[in-house]
Amino acid sequence: MIKGYAAYNAKEELKSFSYEYTNLKPKEVKIKVSHCGICHSDLHLINNDWMMSRYPFIPGHEVAGEVVEIGSDVTELRKGDRVGLGWQAGSCHSCEDCNSGNENLCSSAAATCVGRNGGYAEYVISDSRFAITLPYELESKYAGPLMCGGVTVFSPLRRNNITEGKRVAVIGIGGLGHMALQFANKMGAEVTAISTSLSKKAEAESFGAHNFIVSTTENAFDSYANKFDLIINTIFAPMDWGSLVNTLRSNGNLCFLGAPPEPVSVSAFSLLMKQRQVSGSVIGSPEMIKDMLRFSAKHNVRPVIEVMPMANVNEALKRVAENKVRYRMVLEN
Ligand code: NAP
Ligand code: ZN
Ligand code: ZN
Repeated sequence: MIKGYAAYNAKEELKSFSYEYTNLKPKEVKIKVSHCGICHSDLHLINNDWMMSRYPFIPGHEVAGEVVEIGSDVTELRKGDRVGLGWQAGSCHSCEDCNSGNENLCSSAAATCVGRNGGYAEYVISDSRFAITLPYELESKYAGPLMCGGVTVFSPLRRNNITEGKRVAVIGIGGLGHMALQFANKMGAEVTAISTSLSKKAEAESFGAHNFIVSTTENAFDSYANKFDLIINTIFAPMDWGSLVNTLRSNGNLCFLGAPPEPVSVSAFSLLMKQRQVSGSVIGSPEMIKDMLRFSAKHNVRPVIEVMPMANVNEALKRVAENKVRYRMVLEN
């Protein structure tokens, strides 16, 4: 039996839950969870915002822990290894995306806590190829949030070749956003934080932001025309996307990580006149996760966390829902 905390119905508090597991499949590992971050995607799943939740289920997909059991064909990991597990716990390993190292784009991808049970628990089970060995410099409590939030912001920075001389803006300074500021700064970019919370200004600067825009002030973006190479959006609320597109430099890219509820409306003219792009990005492949973990260890990128015992999961979720956490909540066993 594996014990954890599950959502039984949309928008309700989690309650104790346990599930049977039989033998591991040949490529699976069982991980003893030491820490699990709370990503806002867990809240979307608990609330059934994406109409894909199947109850009851144990949320949690920013896991750090120890491998305690391995399937018969596992070659990458051994018992006792310290690993991280993010949003993805499996893929088909045979499609075009999987064969080109883009397992995160696989149409048959298994998500750690969709249709299966995640990391707000004593143990979690995953395909061994998505349980990634953690560098020894990274303490487990910091590693969990890097496994989903971290790689999700790292991937578009890497794929857009962010280096010195580039200008990056990050919308929403929460779990994802505060890590994006750090990565972009350490890659050498000039970094701008775009936030609804003026109270986050000093901390955003400490994470590496050179500029801070309060998005709710009138004409907030007027003096930023043709400025950014990359805008990373981490919010899931409506915004004036049309004005934001005009803040992109030629060939700039507005990249969606958070999904606003309404379709995104932008002028085709403002796109074509400056060859601008609007795009999306989802988590990162195992190789991208490894690259991100190496980068974090080397450049000392760490989430700023609040730690709470796993048993206080409902109080912790409430703080995330109220945008009170500075900046990532981590549950500890
Ligand atoms: P979070 O820690 O709760 O941070 C979200 C931030 O968005 C808040 O700190 C706040 O920043 C801003 N915000 C919240 N409500 C807002 C509102 N009503 N209007 C405007 N801004 C608002 O969430 P997170 O864990 O970073 O996740 C952010 C989003 O990314 C979620 O929707 C999540 O599902 C998604 N996500 C996507 C992927 C992917 O692969 N694409 C992976 C992980 C997460 P300010 O106070 O600075 O305004
Ligand atoms: Zn996540
Ligand atoms: Zn595949």
